[in-house]
Amino acid sequence: MDCKNAMTCNCVAKKLNINGIVQGVGFRPFVYQLAAQYKIKGDIANTSSGVTIHIEGIRDNIESFCRDLTEKSPPLAHITETSIHSETVKGFKEFSIAQSIDQADCSTLISPDVSICDDCLRELFYPDDRRFQYPFINCTNCGPRYTIISDIPYDRPKTSMKHFKMCKMCQNEYDDPENRRFHAQPNACEKCGPHVSLHDNSGKKLDAQNPVEKTAKLLKQGYIVAIKGLGGFHLAVDAENDDAVSMLRSRKHREEKPLAIMSCDIEHIREYAYVQPKEEELLKSFHRPIVILKKKEPNPISKEVSPGNRYFGSMLPYTPLHYMLLQYGFTALVMTSGNMSEEPICIDNEDALKRLSEVADYFLIHNRDIYLRSDDSIVKHTSGDTRFIRRSRGYIPVPVFLKKKVPHILACGGGLKSTICLTKGNNAFISQHIGDLENQATYEFYQLTIRHMKRILDIDPVLIAYDLHPDYLSTTYALEQQNIEKVPVQHHHAHIVSCMAENRLDGQVIGLSFDGTGYGTDGNIWGGEILISEDKRFERAAHLSYVSMPGSEAAIKEPWRMAVSYLYDAFGKELYSLDLPVFKEIDEKKIQFIVEMISKQINSPSTSSLGRFFDGIAAIIGIRNHVVFEGQAAMELEMLAEKNTNKTYDFEWISGDMHRILLQPIVCGVVDDMSKGVHPSDISSKFHATIIKMFSELCNIVRKESGLNRIALSGGVFQNSIILTGLMEKLEEKGFQVFTHTQVPANDGGISLGQAMIAATVANS
Ligand code: ZN
Ligand code: ZN
Ligand code: FE
Repeated sequence: MDCKNAMTCNCVAKKLNINGIVQGVGFRPFVYQLAAQYKIKGDIANTSSGVTIHIEGIRDNIESFCRDLTEKSPPLAHITETSIHSETVKGFKEFSIAQSIDQADCSTLISPDVSICDDCLRELFYPDDRRFQYPFINCTNCGPRYTIISDIPYDRPKTSMKHFKMCKMCQNEYDDPENRRFHAQPNACEKCGPHVSLHDNSGKKLDAQNPVEKTAKLLKQGYIVAIKGLGGFHLAVDAENDDAVSMLRSRKHREEKPLAIMSCDIEHIREYAYVQPKEEELLKSFHRPIVILKKKEPNPISKEVSPGNRYFGSMLPYTPLHYMLLQYGFTALVMTSGNMSEEPICIDNEDALKRLSEVADYFLIHNRDIYLRSDDSIVKHTSGDTRFIRRSRGYIPVPVFLKKKVPHILACGGGLKSTICLTKGNNAFISQHIGDLENQATYEFYQLTIRHMKRILDIDPVLIAYDLHPDYLSTTYALEQQNIEKVPVQHHHAHIVSCMAENRLDGQVIGLSFDGTGYGTDGNIWGGEILISEDKRFERAAHLSYVSMPGSEAAIKEPWRMAVSYLYDAFGKELYSLDLPVFKEIDEKKIQFIVEMISKQINSPSTSSLGRFFDGIAAIIGIRNHVVFEGQAAMELEMLAEKNTNKTYDFEWISGDMHRILLQPIVCGVVDDMSKGVHPSDISSKFHATIIKMFSELCNIVRKESGLNRIALSGGVFQNSIILTGLMEKLEEKGFQVFTHTQVPANDGGISLGQAMIAATVANS
C-alpha cells in the first residue's frame, strides 16, 4: 500500500543521521533506490558529518528501509554511527536528493582512493562505449578521492576536478540518481575531462596520436618513462629488460632496494611469483597494495629488480591508465616511486620535469592535479594475517576505530618512515607514509600533510605528542608550535601502545618492543626491550645489554662497526685473533680505530637495539659490511635462514628488577660455528631460533613476576617473518595471549598512533 495521504494513513516520519564513510561512495543513490523500493518519501543530503535522511512512509516499510540501510550498503561505505529520531509527518511528495548542508563541525569520513571497478573496466575496453580507452573513466564506486580533495564536504568544487566543466552527457549522468555516475565527483569523459600527453625530458610535447601506445613502445625499447598516477609519479621500465632496470637504479641512486612491479593480472604475476589465495585477495582488493610475494625460480623478471631477496613486491593496475599501458603485452613493468631516493614522490608536472629529468627519458603526464601525494601501500601476508609495511594510498584516510573517545590530538611520529596521527572522537587518522625526515623536501611534505589533514578532517589539536629523540625533525616541529600543551613520549612505549590501540586493549600488557633505534629515558639508544606497558606509563622489565655504537649513525650504515663492537664486547682485545670475513675485508687500521673509539667512549653511544644486533651478526658471518638502507643487513640475514631449526646458541641474562640479556654467549656461539665452517645460512637459522627461544623464556619469567598474560609485539624487527611467526607460536604454546599489528605497520610508521593514545591519558588525567 502506498502512502498517499500523509495526514490520514498509518504513516510515520523519521530523521536519520549517519556518520562514517558515506560520501563519494554511492551512498545517496543507494538510499534513493532503497526509498523507491519501499515507497518512501523524503530527502537525503550530505552534511559535514555524514548524511542526513528524512523518511516518511508506512511503519513496516520504514523498518525494512532502516534494516537494509546498514545491511546492504555499497561496498565502499563504512557506517560508524546511526542515530534515528521521530519527526512529524510533513507530507513529502517524492524522495529527492537535496543540496549538501555545510555545518560547523566537520567529522565526515573521506573515502580512500579506489581502484577502477569492474564496470568501468568493461567500458574502458568496449569499443562502442563513449569512454572507450579514456584514461580517467570512473564512477561512484571507483576512482580518486583522498588525493584530489582540498576541503570538505566532498563535492566537485572542492576537488581538483573543479577546473573541468562537465559536458552535457556527463552532467546528465551526474544528475541522474539511477545512474552509476550520479554525483561521482570526478566524472568526466574524453570531451570534457582531463587528458594525458607525452613529453620528452626537456618538457617538449611529443606529437603522438595515441600517447599511451607510444609510451608502451618507448618502454619496450628500454626507455625510462615517468608516469603520473593517482598519488604521484611512478618511474616505469620494462621489468624484463636488464639494461633498463640497471639504468633506472643508477640514475635514481637506488642501488639495492627492491623495486615494485605491476602486472595486468594474476596469471601474469604467477609467471614469476607464487600467489596464495589470501595474497590473491589482497592483490585484487580495491586498495590495490603492493603485495610481497615469494619469487618463482627461474623467472622472466630481471635479476636487477629484487637482488638478494626471495620476494617480489607486485601489484595489479589500479587506474584506467595502468590497464591501458599493460594491454601492450608486458609481463610486468617496474613501477617505482617517482622521486630521487630519500625525497618525497613527485606529484606536480613541472616539479616532476625538474626533479626527474635526469632519471626519466620521457614523461606521460596529465592535467588532473594531485593535491596530496600518496605512495603505494605495501603489505605482506604472514603469520595468518595481513601486515602493513607501508600504509598509504588506498587505505588513507580510513581511521583506526578506537575503543574510547579522545580529544583532538596531533601526534608527530618519529624520524624514519614517518607518519602523523590526528585524533577526534573514536577515530585515529594516521597519515599516509611521509618518509624519512632527513631532508628539507620531506620535512616540507610533512608540514603540508599536517596542515592538509587538519583542514579536511576539521581537527584543531589541543595536545601535541612527540618522540623523546631531541634530534628528530618531528620533535623540532612539535617544540616550535606555540600555545599548546606538549607531551613527550618514549619511542618503544609508543610502539606497544600503538599495538594495544589497534587491538582495543586496556590495562597492562607485556610489550616486546624490538627495533633499530629509539631514544631511551636514560639517553641511550634502546631497541631490544620488554616493557610492562599501559597507555599511561611503562616500566622496563628486560633489555639487551648495552654495547657501543662506534660513530653513532655511521654504525647504522656500516654494520661492520657493530660487528667489531659485539666482538670486542665478547672477546676484548682477543678479537684480532679471530678468523672472520670482516677482518679480511676491512683494513686493520680502521678496525683498531673503531676499537679505540669504543674503549675510550668517543662518539659511541650505548645501545640495547635488537635491530643492530641483527646487523652485527650479519656482518660477523660475512653477509655485508655496508648498507644502503636501514635494516638491509638484517633483512638479508632473514633471507639467508632457509630452514627451521631447533638448535640454538647458549643464552643468558642477569636477573634483577630489570633483567639484562647478555650477548657474549650468542656472539661466541656464532664465532665458534664460523670457525668450524658451518654454513652462514645454518648460522642464521640458529640465530633466529635463539632469539625466539630466549625471549619466550624470558616472557615466562616476566609473567610470573607481573601476573600479566597478554603480550603485544611491536617494532620494525617484527617485519622479520621468522621472528614474528616463531615468537607468536612459542608464546601461544606457553599459553600467552599474543597481540600483533594488522592495521598499522609494526615499524615506525605506526608509532604516531601510540603517541596519540599516550597523550590522551594526559588530557584525561
Ligand atoms: Zn567505476
Ligand atoms: Zn563529458
Ligand atoms: Fe621504532
